[in-house]
Amino acid sequence: MPIKRNLSVATAAPVKLIKTAHAPPRNSGFLERCHYCNKRIAKNSDVFMYSDLCAFCSVECRDRQISLDKLGGSN
Ligand SMILES: [Zn+2]
Repeated sequence: MPIKRNLSVATAAPVKLIKTAHAPPRNSGFLERCHYCNKRIAKNSDVFMYSDLCAFCSVECRDRQISLDKLGGSN
């Protein structure tokens, strides 16, 4: 039986990137490139969030990063 994972962040709907006064400075670049494949994420495209600081271009990249974190994470 597959283990039901309880990752509310990972299973949330895609987060639409919204410009706010609290947006990070442009030179931080943390929402501009996919954390997994390093592909540039278009300003007007969906950004898939995982954790507080990771943005991904697609749910596939995010899932792969989550898998990597589980393999190398706390055990
Ligand atoms: Zn990616």
